[in-house]
Amino acid sequence: MIMAKVMLEGYKCERCGHEWLPRNKREYPNVCPKCKSPYWDKPRKKSKN
Ligand SMILES: [Zn+2]
Repeated sequence: MIMAKVMLEGYKCERCGHEWLPRNKREYPNVCPKCKSPYWDKPRKKSKN
């Protein structure tokens, strides 16, 4: 069995690490389908907040 990682055309949540392939590539996902974070594409910055 070959386990190929599908990395192309996919998205990765910066918050939970979830990776998924969008149904519609033209539609940019608003939230991560797993953790529902709207900041899935924004990596945490090392700053006090
Ligand atoms: Zn997520």
